[in-house]
Amino acid sequence: MRKYLLLISAVYCLLSTVSYADLATIDRLDHMRDRGYDYLDIYTSGWTTGRGLLLENKLYIDFPETRLAKNLTVKHKPSKRVLNIQATQKNARTARVIITLKREIDYDLVNVFGRGKAVVEIGDRADGATAKQFAWESANARKRASPLKPRKFTPAPSPPAEKVSQPRSLQGRTVILDPGHGGDDPGASSCDGQPEKKLTLATAQETAELLRAAGATVYLTRDEDRRSNLSDVVEFANRSRADIFLSIHYNSTYNRGIAGTESYYYNPGSRQFAEKMHEALVRGLDRKDRGLHRVKFYTVNHTRMPAVLLEPAYLSNGDESSLANSAAFRSKVAASIMKGVKNYFGSNTD
Ligand SMILES: [Zn+2]
Repeated sequence: MRKYLLLISAVYCLLSTVSYADLATIDRLDHMRDRGYDYLDIYTSGWTTGRGLLLENKLYIDFPETRLAKNLTVKHKPSKRVLNIQATQKNARTARVIITLKREIDYDLVNVFGRGKAVVEIGDRADGATAKQFAWESANARKRASPLKPRKFTPAPSPPAEKVSQPRSLQGRTVILDPGHGGDDPGASSCDGQPEKKLTLATAQETAELLRAAGATVYLTRDEDRRSNLSDVVEFANRSRADIFLSIHYNSTYNRGIAGTESYYYNPGSRQFAEKMHEALVRGLDRKDRGLHRVKFYTVNHTRMPAVLLEPAYLSNGDESSLANSAAFRSKVAASIMKGVKNYFGSNTD
């Protein structure tokens, strides 16, 4: 018996050595400052592709099929943006670099092709969008609107065969989708002329269909071109005892160069949900990651269930405006929201 155990452990050691041999290693982290930016050079033993995720004051860079070198060196310079830099093994095959930040930033991540190196460029956050959203919200919450007519989403009947094949993993969950703007409030306008209110409604309707097909009960705070008052929206959400609340907008700012995906939450109880949603959008849309932020927006502040406000792309940016106007991109947004919701409830089941 003992012999067998020894043999098994010998084989196991051999296997684990073999399986590690094909992983790249992170060997060195060099932080420097240059021309108004912070840079982190991440040196790896071979070709590996880092992926970033900005969640409030932490920027995570994950490297799949990578482990930390035993003699990993970290060089960190004093900086007004970077508090500290750590590296951990996230799981057996994924290494993670964590940059803790002192202030709001924007970042770019470049995996330098053909070299074992990834470069993270960190600058101050170029903003304007958050202030714009704030101004709209406070004006809207005061403004009168005709009474809210929330609609329970019921899809067109599908053939029985299709119904049977759908896995109903969201059975028993209630979701509220709040398409931003409507009626005499068009929201931002896209370069191609479509107002934000149309794009948010189209996105919410497609998302509703996906969620509904997976068994969720879905309410839309509006299902037509009408204005809704934010305090009515919040009151309805709280009365409905929904499990989650999602407000859908498209972003806009004065600087047309700014682009990317942003998400917002406010209450601590929403944080886990917001993280899942932001990650799903960033991964699913593959736009610039402009981070998950904690901001006291009206809906995410006053709703009593986990709530998030999503801004998948910028209508003020030419490229992203064209994307948002395409049904294909909006389908990606809907699919990413669906994925985030599933991940959230998946991680929540006891
Ligand atoms: Zn908006």
